[in-house]
Amino acid sequence: MARTIQLADGRTVEVECLSCALTGGLIQPTGGVIVETDLFHAHQDVAYPIRGLVILASKRHFYGMDELTQQEQAEFIWLVHTIRQKQRELLGIEHVYYFYNEDTTHHFHLWMVPRYEWMNAFGRSVESLRPVLLHARNELNTEENLKDVLESIEILREGLKDFKR
Ligand SMILES: [Zn+2]
Repeated sequence: MARTIQLADGRTVEVECLSCALTGGLIQPTGGVIVETDLFHAHQDVAYPIRGLVILASKRHFYGMDELTQQEQAEFIWLVHTIRQKQRELLGIEHVYYFYNEDTTHHFHLWMVPRYEWMNAFGRSVESLRPVLLHARNELNTEENLKDVLESIEILREGLKDFKR
């Protein structure tokens, strides 16, 4: 199902898959790419302004975990591991919640959501994830917080610039 996306410069485009548009460079995520390899692409969705949040997407269009090639499997876990390491090392993130569903309108992508104190108000189970994201989108969309989030993107990008498998 095609959807219409508004680009940063005001133009609108129709895309079949938002992940393809992002990983293929048609859409520039706000804050830019965090790390990019031949097979994967990581960015932050600033619509959910949470410092250190990372979305790691494959470049190839598929949905299931069982569809990863051997090369993708290796690169995926190495990337998740390294991004996680940098979140801890450079941003002091103690815990991360991981989220990925296969029946999505976008293709294969993993959410890496850092866990902060304020999130405990929404519980600690998987059910807390949606209220946490909505709270971030509706309540944390301040100029100051956005600045903080953009800075975290910069820090992660710098920390991951020499990433090699
Ligand atoms: Zn796609």
